[in-house]
This record gives sequence, C-alpha cells and structure tokens, in this order.
Amino acid sequence: MNFIDLEAQLNIKLEGDKTLRNIIDLNISRVLNHTKFICGPEVNQLENDLAHFIDVKNCVAVSSGTDALLISLMALDINQGDEVITTPFSFISTVEVLLLLKAKPVFVDIDPKTFNIDPKKIEEKINENTKAIIPVSLYGQTADLKAINLIAEKYKIPVIEDAAQSFGAMHHNKFSCSQTTIATTSFFPSKPLGCYGDGGAIFTNNDSLADRVRRISKHGQTKRYIHSEIGINGRLDTIQAAILTPKLKLFEKEIFLRNEIAKRYENKFDKLGYSNSFYPFIENFNKSVFAQYTIRVKNRFKVQEFLKSKGIPTAIHYPCLLNEQEILSDSNTEKIKKNSENLIFAKEASKEVLSLPFSPYLKEIDQDLIVEKVHEANLMFNF
Ligand SMILES: *Cc1c(COP(=O)(O)O)cnc(C)c1O
Repeated sequence: MNFIDLEAQLNIKLEGDKTLRNIIDLNISRVLNHTKFICGPEVNQLENDLAHFIDVKNCVAVSSGTDALLISLMALDINQGDEVITTPFSFISTVEVLLLLKAKPVFVDIDPKTFNIDPKKIEEKINENTKAIIPVSLYGQTADLKAINLIAEKYKIPVIEDAAQSFGAMHHNKFSCSQTTIATTSFFPSKPLGCYGDGGAIFTNNDSLADRVRRISKHGQTKRYIHSEIGINGRLDTIQAAILTPKLKLFEKEIFLRNEIAKRYENKFDKLGYSNSFYPFIENFNKSVFAQYTIRVKNRFKVQEFLKSKGIPTAIHYPCLLNEQEILSDSNTEKIKKNSENLIFAKEASKEVLSLPFSPYLKEIDQDLIVEKVHEANLMFNF
C-alpha cells in the first residue's frame, strides 16, 4: 500500500480511450518538438486555465510553492524587521521565506479543531510593524479566511493565503486562492494538484500586484536584459505546465472523489464509535480537498510502528513546530521565541497528529484494513 497513490491516476481515462498517461506523453512530445522549454505556450495556457478554475483575475505560474511565497512577500515589499503573523504548525517554507527576507515571524496558536491559525488570537499580536498575515490552509481545509480578512481590513494589512495544501478547497462557497490579497499554491507531486517535479502558482485579483509578481518571478525584468528590481529565477518549466493542464481537467472529479474517500473513512470510524475530535473536523462553511487525512492519537509512535508492521504507511505533518526549528534558535530570534509562548494547541497537535494513506483512488479494501488496524492499535495503546 502506498501513502499516496500517484500511479493509479495515470491510468484514468481522460478523453475517449486515452488515459491521462497517454495525454501527458503526447503533451511532453509536443514540448520536445517546439523546444520552448522556458515560457512556452503551455505555461500561458495553464495560467489561464487555473485562473478560470479558481475564478481569479490573475495567475502566475512559478517554480514551487516556496518560491510562490517568497515572490509574493517580495511583491508586497516585506523587508528586514517587518513582522508577519502566521501559524507555527506548517511546513518549513512558511517561515523560511520570512527569514530569507529578514522579516520576523510572529506565531499565533491554532484552533485545535481545524489545526489552522485561530483568528481570535491574531489581533492582540498586531502592532505598527505588522506588515502581513499568512494563514496556512492545512491538510486541505482553508483557514478561517473570512474572519482573518475582517481583521486585516481593519488594520489595512495584506493577507497571503499559503494554499499549498488547499488548491481546490472551498470557503463560504468560493475557492481557496481567491479570497485574500494574494494566495500561493504548490504543485509538488503529492499535493492535491501535483506536477512531476517542482511547481507552484500565485493568484491575485489585484492587477498591479500581479504585474509585480510576474516581473519578480522573471529576474525583475521589464524588457529583455533590462532589470528594474531584484527578482529571482522563479518560472515554471513548460513541461510541468504541459503535465498540469490535463491533470487540471481531471481535478474536479478528483475533488469529488477525495470527499467520497474522506466520507468513507468517517463512516467507518463513526461505526466504531470515534468522533470528529479524532478524525478530521471540517467547518460547515468549508469544503476540504483532504491533502492529508489526519487523525489524532496518543502514543503516536507506537501506533505508527504497529501500522507499519501491518504494511500501512503513515506520516506526521508536522512533528516539530516552526518556532522550535533550529533556524530560529540564534540570539537575534530571542524575541520571536518570547513571542512564541502560549502555542499550547499547536504543541499538543504536533505530538498527536498522524496522517493515514489517502488518495482519490484509495481502494475500499485497503481502507477497511487501515481502519481495522487503527482500531486495533487503539485497543492496544489506548488513544
Ligand atoms: C508543500 C508546502 C509548501 C511548499 O511547497 P513546495 O512546492 O514544496 O515548495 C509550502 N507551504 C505548505 C503549507 C506546504 O504544505
């Protein structure tokens, strides 16, 4: 059993008799024929398709989810000493890009039900140095963007949604990536919409911000060899765009399947007497894409070992909080550390979360085994 089954998708029929794999092969061949490996027509096509899918005015395809965050912060002029409010419970990228720009992360605890930043605890951290808020939409469910936007509007600070795990999710009936000043996603292979290498995208309804993002992602170039500002080499490869375009066609169906598979997990766990403090809790105004299907257990390492011995792979997202990472441990960051007290729910979550195998194509027979063994582990290790 795979933790995420990336192979099953390739065999899905997409157009008549043609599988996704057939179409990707054809698309890659087309790129090899026209040889526009950088900024080829497929990139533009993908940007249009993504913007249309999400219903946002502008999409800029970039080299990764991490670069998408970095470019967005640069486009918003986040500089040395600026404070940026975010969650301690995320992948390293969220804080790494802040440290690259010498900005200061200010961590706010999570809501223990959703694992996302708790909007009620944001306002007390805002001061005159606060220059942005980065909510992360973890495990495929958006943070409470509506509540966060209200606070941001009051203080006139931009919101960057880190939607690396939530592309395709909905919040109050609108897509993730469409509801904040700017939003970033990742097409890392195991994300809900993945390419076959590194890739990402940036979304915004603000045209001048989009222009800036586009420029920064291409060496700050205004015309060929004319550079008006510092940028990075942050473009998406043409081949990755040629892979993503057909995968996007399949994606709506996959969002449906992801929710079906999650429902199936939930029904099975319900029958055994578990509740949504154990399996994922989804707010009634949200629709998740289940980038991960994450449960909470005590004695996690014993549970994980037991499941492994039964052939069931699991993962931990994430065992260490961002404020505990060594990159924050030098003397300059003492203040950040002080600011990181009271991250109680995040700390608890980092000790208890365990992600189970999940993909739109997870077989019911495998799912039955997973649920059975998780339950057995509970009887043994009492979580
Ligand atoms: C995966 C991920 C990223 C980084 O995306 P890459 O494409 O791997 O650079 C950033 N933030 C979160 C929350 C992620 O899960």
